[in-house]
Amino acid sequence: MEPHILILGAPGAGKGTQSRRIAEEYDVEHVTTGDALRANKHMETEHGTPASYMDEGELVPDPVVNEIVRAALDEADGYVLDGYPRNLSQAEYLHEITDLDVVLYLDVDEEELVHRLTGRRLDPETGDIYHVEYDPAEDEEVAERLVQREDDTEETVRERLRVYRENTEPVVEFYDDEGALVRIDGEQSPDEVWKDVRDTIDSNA
Ligand code: AMP
Repeated sequence: MEPHILILGAPGAGKGTQSRRIAEEYDVEHVTTGDALRANKHMETEHGTPASYMDEGELVPDPVVNEIVRAALDEADGYVLDGYPRNLSQAEYLHEITDLDVVLYLDVDEEELVHRLTGRRLDPETGDIYHVEYDPAEDEEVAERLVQREDDTEETVRERLRVYRENTEPVVEFYDDEGALVRIDGEQSPDEVWKDVRDTIDSNA
């Protein structure tokens, strides 16, 4: 049986980067609500389009997100779940539809998150992530085509972090109270974080 891994952390904590490595190393599905929603940003739902929430830094309504996750987990054997659950009602829904083997939490200070997110740049062709200061693109052609995510502007970043504190921190506490949560220092280099992530999965899954 392939592992069921949940990765928690604030926006900018490194969930995407670590999840991609987990998916590759353990041959599991990378299930990420953020990417799924971005791919369907302008889809009309009875609650409006995902874009109308995402561009403001607000949460997309639970029924829309829960359905995405249910469909994705139905198809996956093992998975790493990234960007979900973001509130307690999503956590309850998740509990009804699946079991988890490992819950990781990437811990990063808030000002560092703002710095990471506002400097983050994306290669639209490969999906690779860069940072204006920490990890600039070396290749000029790549550097020229980099874009900023629409919700990575400072104003929206502050709102996303406020929403995170209000809605998602209780989720972190919930798994912590259950004794299921493994806290990892997310301010280390990506390779050092990866080492801790891998050690944790190997000793828990
Ligand atoms: P992310 O790429 O994970 O930072 O997600 C980008 C945006 O997608 C968030 O700011 C929300 O608007 C939306 N989103 C992603 N995951 C969820 C979720 N589990 N619940 C509600 N909204 C979500």
